[in-house]
This record gives sequence, structure tokens and C-alpha cells, in this order.
Amino acid sequence: MKVFVTGGSGYIGSVTTELLLDQGHEVVIFDSLERGHRQAIDPRAKLIKGDLRVAGQVARAMKAAKPDAVMHFAAYALVGESMCDPGMYFTNNMMGGVNLVEAMVKSGVSRIVFSSTCATYGYPDRVPITEDTPQRPVNPYGESKLMFEKVLGWYQKIHGIKPVFLRYFNASGATLRFGEDHEPETHLIPNVIKVALGQRKNVKVFGTDYKTPDGTCIRDYIHIVDLGRAHILALTGKHTGAFNLGTGKGFSVREVIDVVRRVTGHPIPVEFAPRRPGDPDRLVASAKRAKSVLGWVPKHSNLRAIVESAWAWHQAHPNGYAKATGKSPARKKKNVRK
Ligand code: UDP
Repeated sequence: MKVFVTGGSGYIGSVTTELLLDQGHEVVIFDSLERGHRQAIDPRAKLIKGDLRVAGQVARAMKAAKPDAVMHFAAYALVGESMCDPGMYFTNNMMGGVNLVEAMVKSGVSRIVFSSTCATYGYPDRVPITEDTPQRPVNPYGESKLMFEKVLGWYQKIHGIKPVFLRYFNASGATLRFGEDHEPETHLIPNVIKVALGQRKNVKVFGTDYKTPDGTCIRDYIHIVDLGRAHILALTGKHTGAFNLGTGKGFSVREVIDVVRRVTGHPIPVEFAPRRPGDPDRLVASAKRAKSVLGWVPKHSNLRAIVESAWAWHQAHPNGYAKATGKSPARKKKNVRK
């Protein structure tokens, strides 16, 4: 298939592009490169540089690419930032999405696999979280993703769009080529690894008074290669609707830090810090629907294997993708602001 991938220079988009190309699909990436990395774009893919917020740019790109289907990764994805600047999130994640699906309608493309999130559930009443759990986001990031799920639902009814919403739990890990490089980095595993690399003196543990056995938050960590595999199953299958992508097993912040200690051999000092606003105690997926309907079974998501893959990538890229161009991280930050 020829797949139009938005956000192919980002963390999950780059890995899924790699998998698609390895399986013989053709990929056209539509990406603004605002937060992604040019070095994360697989050279076998074609890049069209453009911004989803500019309707004409995405419509022209879709018309030129004539894809069979769309995978939509491009988005802002920082909860804290969304709480400070909600407009950014609704404009890019929701309105940018509307421009994308309008472009699909104009070009006669019906299949879309959309990167949604467990943040659409907010504070769930119970875990594991099934797809029928009420969606009550507690921040504009989760809300913007839920809004676009609903937009796609209406385009399905009115224009025959065939959407799949993949609600990711905690994307983590790396391939040999592609890994996690955000600026700023807010995620737990890369932040702990930065301590092991000697780039930070300790890792902050946000909250030790949660209702969990060791008092720290529990999350369901899923390897990005497993996420990428789920996208390809969703793309080539006939089903529509929502699928949770997680392992069904949760690990606390302390447990994650312990695994990084064992894998890296570094003591990893911790600093206990107050809770981070908006963090639910426990987010663990029921991924039964993805298994029974898509035939998706995670193969790489053992926590130790996740951390080993991330550690290998970060050792090879201690300054993230900046190293490949010789740019300093400061210079890279300047580019992000442009
Ligand atoms: N966390 C932490 N220290 C960090 C980063 C994250 O204690 O430097 C905690 C965070 O509060 C949450 C868990 O680790 O409970 C996972 O956070 P992450 O940002 O990786 O993913 P999220 O679940 O927020 O999407």
C-alpha cells in the first residue's frame, strides 16, 4: 500500500515508517519538522514538508501523493504544555486533524489509522481499562485527541471514512536506528537513562503517596515496535473503531527505576518530588480487543527488553539526533522555536 504518514519524523511515526518500508509498503511523509527530527526520517520515504494547520498544504500534498491510506501521528503531546496553552493543542491536534480528513475526502482516501491515547480516559473508574471505559479527559491534550476521534466518527457516518483509533498507553523503547528524543524530555524512561549516562545527577520521582503498593504511579509500558506492528495490522484489516494498545501489566515508577539500575549498572540516585498535576494513580490497558480483532500480541514489551533497547539507543545517541548533524542541543532548541 501507499501510506501517507503525518509526523513521520517523530518517535512513533519514524519507527512505524521503518516497519512499513521493511514490509514493502510505500511511504509519503507529511511533516512540518517542528518537533520531529530530519535524521529520523527513513531515507526510503518521500518527505513533503508542510503544516496540518494550513488546509491548502495538506490538501495539495494528499492530492499529489494519491495514497491508499493515512496514518496520523503528527500532534503536540505534552500534557503540561497543554495545560498552559490549550489553544496550541486544539488548533494543531483537532483543527489540523479536520484539515487532514477534509483532504482525504477531497482525494477519495477512506482509511485512517489515528494515534490516540489513554489520556482520553482521564482518571478511570477501574483498571484494566477497556475501550468502553468512559472517556473523560483531564487535560487539553487528552481532550484534543478525543475531539478528533469524534470528528472521525462523524466523517465515518457522513463521508464513509474508515477510522481506527489506537489508544496508546506508555510508548517506550527504541529500534537500533530510531529512539526517543524530545525537547524538553518529560518521560520517565529517557529521564532515568539520562542519569545513567551522567547527563543528570538524579531522577525526580513525582509523588510517593499514590494508592499503589509502593506509593508511586503505575503505568503500562509498550514497546514502539509493538505499537508500529499494531498500526500495520489496523491498516491492512477491515475493522474500524478503538483499540487499546498496552500489555495489561503495570509497573510503578520505582520498579522502572530498578530495571534501569539493573540494565545499566548505574546506581540512579532519586529525588522525591511532589506529585505532577494530572497524573492518575494507575493506567493499565485491557488489550483484549486488539488481540481478538486485530490479532495483535505484544512481542517486545517485556520491561527489561524495553529498557535494554532504549539504553542501547541512548548510548549510541547520547545527545539524541543532534549528534548526527553535529548540532548542539541548544542550536536544536533554537530551531524548534522558529
Ligand atoms: N515520572 C517521574 N519522573 C520523571 C518522569 C515521569 O516520576 O522524570 C512519572 C510520572 O509522574 C508518571 C510516570 O513516571 O507517574 C510515567 O510518566 P511519563 O511522563 O513517562 O508518561 P505518562 O504516563 O505521563 O504519559
